[in-house]
Amino acid sequence: MFNIFATQTVRFLPRFYPDILWHKPAQEKELYITIDDGPTTQCTGKLAEILEKFGAKATFFLIGQNVVAEPGLVRELKSAGHTLGQHSHSHPNAWQLPKEQMMAEMNKATQILEEVVDEPVRWMRPPYGRFTPAMRKWCIENEQKLVMWDLLPADYMATVSEKDISRHICQFVRPGSIVVLHDNPKVFHKTPEALYSVLATLSAVGWQFRAL
Ligand SMILES: [Zn+2]
Repeated sequence: MFNIFATQTVRFLPRFYPDILWHKPAQEKELYITIDDGPTTQCTGKLAEILEKFGAKATFFLIGQNVVAEPGLVRELKSAGHTLGQHSHSHPNAWQLPKEQMMAEMNKATQILEEVVDEPVRWMRPPYGRFTPAMRKWCIENEQKLVMWDLLPADYMATVSEKDISRHICQFVRPGSIVVLHDNPKVFHKTPEALYSVLATLSAVGWQFRAL
């Protein structure tokens, strides 16, 4: 139930946080897939292959430390036409961190990613989806859009199966939805298969998959 609850709850939030993106205005069957926590050698390439098979573009929110470890993967994502954003340097919980440290995390992740892709970073996803007023202000000042979601299939939860992930997305998707998936060790064994199933099911009924 957790994931359904999460998806339904976030639909009330945009009116309180107009600076944050929860959902893209869209009339057509357009889904925005976002993938957090990479790049990882075990999963990111697999997801990119599946996306390519369906002509799908996505947005990857990358952890600075992982960018340092796998800059080649980052360049591959960029040249495949995906959008890249930063997801902090070491994935801390902003609700438990002094704000100066969180700003340093975002500055460092941005600088590292910009050095690898040679263009400005324009998108930010807070680790665990936990944002603060200081982070919102930082994003505005640094011309990065803080991106949340309206679809959270909770692929990172041990009790959520590959079938649960795809069912959740296919059941709740609406035009302009932003869905969160991951490419971290918790999901290596299920998210690629779930993504394949979502792309196959939804593309058969006219959905397109866009990068932010
Ligand atoms: Zn994350």
